[in-house]
Amino acid sequence: MTVKKIAKKELARLLDEWSRQFSVLVPSVETGVAQMTGWQGEDTSFVDWYRNTILPPKDAILPVMEEMFSFSKNEDGYRLEMSPPDSGRQLIFGIRPCDARALAMLDVVFKQDYEDTYYMRRRLNTVLVGIGCTNPYDSCFCTSLSSGPSDTAGLDLMLTDIGDEFVIEAVTEAGRELLDKSQGMRPATADDEARARESRDIANQRVTQNVDVKKMPDRLLAAFDNEEYWRKIAAKCISCGICTLLCPTCYCFDINDEVSDNRGARYRSLDSCAFCIYTKMPVENPREEKWQRVRNRVCHKYEFYPRLFDTIACTGCGRCIRLCPVNWDITRTLNSIPGQ
Ligand code: SF4
Ligand code: SF4
Repeated sequence: MTVKKIAKKELARLLDEWSRQFSVLVPSVETGVAQMTGWQGEDTSFVDWYRNTILPPKDAILPVMEEMFSFSKNEDGYRLEMSPPDSGRQLIFGIRPCDARALAMLDVVFKQDYEDTYYMRRRLNTVLVGIGCTNPYDSCFCTSLSSGPSDTAGLDLMLTDIGDEFVIEAVTEAGRELLDKSQGMRPATADDEARARESRDIANQRVTQNVDVKKMPDRLLAAFDNEEYWRKIAAKCISCGICTLLCPTCYCFDINDEVSDNRGARYRSLDSCAFCIYTKMPVENPREEKWQRVRNRVCHKYEFYPRLFDTIACTGCGRCIRLCPVNWDITRTLNSIPGQ
């Protein structure tokens, strides 16, 4: 395993160097780190204070909305033209471990029975350079999900903060190649690696929110028909959909055709199972009532997905807790399932 280090004051130069090979995305200082945006060759101060972006970086691979193809009709008939996804190489710098794991979960969905060209082209051209969290939010619960603030799963390179420097570890072959080719880094010493381990241990201890996920699919299945419980759990939800639209592992989308005169285009845009009009187009929403939709969101992540893919479709990033306008908290639901 290749392990190097770089001074924080050298980061701008490294990002400039990588910008010559990739379209580099970084947590945007301008938007208050609401999202990742293109590296402008300026401020890297975000590394000292940002915790995580509001919008998950999945947007760089599964955009909120995208054109899939366009069509037109003339006297010769119909003409279809594909709208290929931008497939240039991109590097996401500063992605948190929870969001890298989330992309690994989305990969399974977008290439299982049918390989989704739009998603996979971007995904295969994306390098993920993570920064381990040193200051997790109170709402983070990644350690309950076999992960943690320094988990390297899904990353190509992992940076660990050791003060004025970062220790950089190659996780994949692509990461090792990039590290070997990059300028201005020195080999990490045994002392650097010890400081990185200490930093990771401290970060792990700072995640205090806890959920017991043992046998979760079975427990949720047993509670599935407990309408009284789900009605109580769902009471204060206002079905705004924020928890799903900002969740790094949610992937539901809608397809719409926009037509004007003899031409038009087909778009895909993110959708939310929290909405009462969700899946209404084919027949009707099978989850007319709010408690059914809340139950679906919890069970999709903690019951259906694990049964299909053997992993829980939640990374414990805590966004749905921090950003819910009525403070609905998934950990309280998971810790209060009847029959525990
Ligand atoms: S963010 Fe909160 S209020 Fe909005 S749908 Fe989700 S749980 Fe309900
Ligand atoms: S369900 Fe909530 S905590 Fe889990 S990944 Fe989605 S936003 Fe993060």
